Amino acid sequence: MNSQLIQSASAAGCGLVFSGSGDAVFAALGASLAGRRALALPGSPVPLPDSRVGGGVVIALPGEGEAYPSLRAAFEASEQGDRPVAVPLEAGFAAETADFQPAKYRKQPERFVPGCERASMCPGCPYRAAFYLASKLWLRTIAGGGCSLLGAKRPFLALDAAWGRGTALAALAGFIAAMPEARRDTIAVCGTDEAGPDGLALLAQYGGVALLVGSGAVDAPEGVALRELDAYDVNGIEAALKSGLAGQGAELILCRGSCGARSPRLFKTDPNRCRRCGACGRLGCPAISGRSPVIDPGLCAGCGLCADVCRCSAIV
Ligand code: SF4
Ligand code: SF4
Repeated sequence: MNSQLIQSASAAGCGLVFSGSGDAVFAALGASLAGRRALALPGSPVPLPDSRVGGGVVIALPGEGEAYPSLRAAFEASEQGDRPVAVPLEAGFAAETADFQPAKYRKQPERFVPGCERASMCPGCPYRAAFYLASKLWLRTIAGGGCSLLGAKRPFLALDAAWGRGTALAALAGFIAAMPEARRDTIAVCGTDEAGPDGLALLAQYGGVALLVGSGAVDAPEGVALRELDAYDVNGIEAALKSGLAGQGAELILCRGSCGARSPRLFKTDPNRCRRCGACGRLGCPAISGRSPVIDPGLCAGCGLCADVCRCSAIV
């Protein structure tokens, strides 16, 4: 590592340095969500992420980047523009001190909702239980890309940050590195295909709980506990989440399910039992409608989530 660069960053109020791979950039962005200054040393050139919430992130790239008189100026430019800035790794920066006060954590879901093209989650979507629980348990949630962005939409409104496919684990690790107490109420939600070795290594280093949704294989490194559940076992996932968040270290909860899966089961509501509590409506399933809920048999995928969340046995 470039020790002079790290000393200069430290003098400029940067307490976190992530290095080793392109995922270092997303760990630094995760730290920025907690209002901290972070330096990323990805080791090889990476495209700058298209992110408006990245204030306080400097990425040192070999042979690339903007010319700043000091790292202090680079961090300040990043904060003013709310974007990560790149500096040349080889530049010799003097250690210029900064009077830096960490900013507060900020949730800005409007930033990534426009990138989510689908209007709502499909019936039977394997992400539904994950975001229903994130919303129910008031968890801070960092997602990756693709369908995991649907957690930002109503009725969940459960997404706090996302920087694109394959970035959620690194961003969660960076956020927890910057705010260790957040381990008990912050999770990552992404697809099993987004769990790459670099993100998993960062998670193993800093800890955190991630829900991985899908049917792909996941190779958990040493130090990362793995639990496997059905993506529609909402009560089992809730219990696993609570115990994972109460623990320490890194934990992956694999929510096994496939996009487009349909079961021959048909569910319907019993109006005599329904107490109109609204719990099934908070699943955001397009097949469920009305205050006295009715299930459209043409849309229902038979996943059974609504029957599991109904405490009145009114969905059978
Ligand atoms: S079982 Fe319930 S939650 Fe699942 S698709 Fe059918 S109506 Fe929607
Ligand atoms: S969860 Fe059950 S009781 Fe509550 S509104 Fe839905 S069907 Fe009715």
